[in-house]
Amino acid sequence: MPIIFGKKHKCPDCGAVSFGCLHIGKAWGEQDYLELACEKCCTTYRCDLPKLTKKILYLDQLAISHMMRSRQAGKDRKWSDFFDRLKSMVQWQRIICPTSWEHRAESEFSKDRYAALMDTCRKLAMGNRLRASWDIQARQIYQALQAFMVGTMPDWSFDSKEAFEDNPNTWHDHFAIDVDFALDFKQVADRRESKMAVHKAMESLYSDPTYLQGTFEEHVQRETEGFARGLLGTYDKERRELLEMMCGVRAPDPIALLSSPGAQVVQMVLMTIQQESQSQDRNSKVREFFFSPQFRSVPAVRINAVMRAAMALKSRDSGRKPKPSDQYDVEVICSYMPYCDAMLIDGEMRSLATDGKAQLDGAYDTMLFSARTLPKLHEWLDQVETSFPPQQREAVADVYEERFERLKLHRGRNLLEARRAMMTLSPTSRTRRGNKHGTSGEPSHD
Ligand SMILES: [Zn+2]
Repeated sequence: MPIIFGKKHKCPDCGAVSFGCLHIGKAWGEQDYLELACEKCCTTYRCDLPKLTKKILYLDQLAISHMMRSRQAGKDRKWSDFFDRLKSMVQWQRIICPTSWEHRAESEFSKDRYAALMDTCRKLAMGNRLRASWDIQARQIYQALQAFMVGTMPDWSFDSKEAFEDNPNTWHDHFAIDVDFALDFKQVADRRESKMAVHKAMESLYSDPTYLQGTFEEHVQRETEGFARGLLGTYDKERRELLEMMCGVRAPDPIALLSSPGAQVVQMVLMTIQQESQSQDRNSKVREFFFSPQFRSVPAVRINAVMRAAMALKSRDSGRKPKPSDQYDVEVICSYMPYCDAMLIDGEMRSLATDGKAQLDGAYDTMLFSARTLPKLHEWLDQVETSFPPQQREAVADVYEERFERLKLHRGRNLLEARRAMMTLSPTSRTRRGNKHGTSGEPSHD
């Protein structure tokens, strides 16, 4: 028997008050549809739903934390009011506020508040999750490599779908499921240790006056080359460790056999060049790619370099000290920014990205907001609301307010009859059919 979500309506077939929404799904060709059913006579109706265009707003961990605290303690109402507004706009399909790998990783660092932070994230994400930052970066690097192989420059246009596992513009069901994984305390401790090690390295780098010398452009170039060297260095290190294990001079470590995302990128470049290049010296060709204009143009590489250049100059000119959160903040901005319409980020990060020569918001057409410019973000949300196409607005209201009489419904299958039809196909008749076509004499297990 079908189970109906929401209010029960009068069934157009049997007249019982047991008719309503069964689910919202996606058919072949990305066509979203709503399926209605009757719990009594099992008849179904289907309605094709129009395509939606939602705006993507990324909320950084600080914003999630402000909202979570405000909802729990009832203080600083501007954040709980902001949460309520976002939640309503997400439910009414105007925007999506996706979760990311970094949300989870940073929430795990605050063990006691992990559940509450993730609950805030999930309530706004409704199942929309960004691909991992290293996955997005690997895809961009592959696109640059394709252009490098044919001697052109990549054409960087950003379709938000590329940054998601599932199309963010699909209609969400009445409830969304997000899988939670148990906390692995050892992994969290390792990640915290690695975060602090990177922070210490940044502190010593940024206290070295020689490192801070140079113009903005020189810093960008140095950081771009640093990105390439980092990837190549990781690959060399992991390959060397693997060889040492194979030769028995290093203790076997199953974890070390799994390549890190950085090493995987170099491996992918190496394999593509091996397969597609006529060059005899493939290793030189790999190096040539990592120091080519195509690699320099990779959005994640470029944004990372610009942010780090701006940080270096801010350290030199205003004495800014690196923060432990910098690495996650920069990772989020450099990986997700081109695919978002707007981001709410840390105030200092926002000024690094938008001030002086950085101007990243204009370059990637993304609105950047911080806690200080929250009123501006509300204005942007007003614009999103007023510019939402009227036809989509009406369809969304008809579906979620269950005004089914206004929808163009098509009678679908009767679930009861469909089940009976399946039952009449006995295993023997199916076996015989199998023999006739000479395919199988085994009884069917389906
Ligand atoms: Zn009925």
